Amino acid sequence: MQIVAGVDLGGTSINYTFLDLQEQFLIDRLCEYPARAKEGPDICMAQIVDGLVAAAKEAGVSLDDVAVVGLDSPGPASAAGVLSQRGSTNFIHLGWCGFDIPGRLSRQLGKPVTYLNDGNAGALWGHFVLFGGHSKATSVSAIIGTGLGGGVIAEGNVVKGRSGYGGELGHVLIPHERIPAIRSLQPQCNCGRLGDLESLCSLTAIEKCLLPFFLTKYPEHPLAQVSDITRAARRVRGLAEDGDAMCREIFRVQAQALGLFFDLMVNTFDPDALIVGGGALETKPEFQRWFLEEVRAAMPTQREEQASIPIHVMPNGDTAGARGAAIEALQCLRLS
Ligand SMILES: [Zn+2]
Repeated sequence: MQIVAGVDLGGTSINYTFLDLQEQFLIDRLCEYPARAKEGPDICMAQIVDGLVAAAKEAGVSLDDVAVVGLDSPGPASAAGVLSQRGSTNFIHLGWCGFDIPGRLSRQLGKPVTYLNDGNAGALWGHFVLFGGHSKATSVSAIIGTGLGGGVIAEGNVVKGRSGYGGELGHVLIPHERIPAIRSLQPQCNCGRLGDLESLCSLTAIEKCLLPFFLTKYPEHPLAQVSDITRAARRVRGLAEDGDAMCREIFRVQAQALGLFFDLMVNTFDPDALIVGGGALETKPEFQRWFLEEVRAAMPTQREEQASIPIHVMPNGDTAGARGAAIEALQCLRLS
């Protein structure tokens, strides 16, 4: 039997999955192991291997059957998976600067290792759910979490780009002045840009930009009494889901920002599907439907052939990275 593994490396934990050649996942639930990334690459790389052995045991598969390992991690990293020389917020130990994670893992395991950044792995998973592993379809996925991640799958292939920055959708500038509720706002992103997608559509955007702005319009709102803005920002989604007027306005602005962004993507890629995922939409289906309707309503008029491009919600947020990484490994195996 030949199978592939998916390894999703985060700063605190590693998630695993296994996939067979019939595109069946061999683990249903989240299979986690501590990453210990703060302690540096030597300890963390040993954790990855130990966790893989434990996951194989749990799934009832043999590591000898694993032909290719797919790895994903947060960046910034090159398209081949070499972490930035300047370091990374998830890999702060100095040993990680310029570290070749897939290269080391491949030597440790004696197997080929493919690499995707976590946004692109999530996008590949969302694409696979809709189209399977053999399709030449095109999709654009926006994943709304602390930041705005995601990726582009063009005619079946992940767009990684020259330096690994392909699919950095959060830092694409959008015409935010078209959003009526925030005309006087100058949305600043952590990356230094003004008015990109992440500056309006992320948990960080709620905390840094949208919540402070809307609280000036709703000074009596209960969140105005919460002294810690980070804690207050985390409550906005739940309140929006329950119908709170201010929090709905905040989510409407996020949906409108996403609609303007998707319009850019429609005209750039003419995709088969647009996909939205991440913590912002880990809500009841009713709220998801409302959000997608707001996204659609904010998209400028399309030409008739493109007006019906579907917008989907990405399933299974927790396992998306590991599953996307495994799908990349399967595609590598099929090409070999
Ligand atoms: Zn940015």
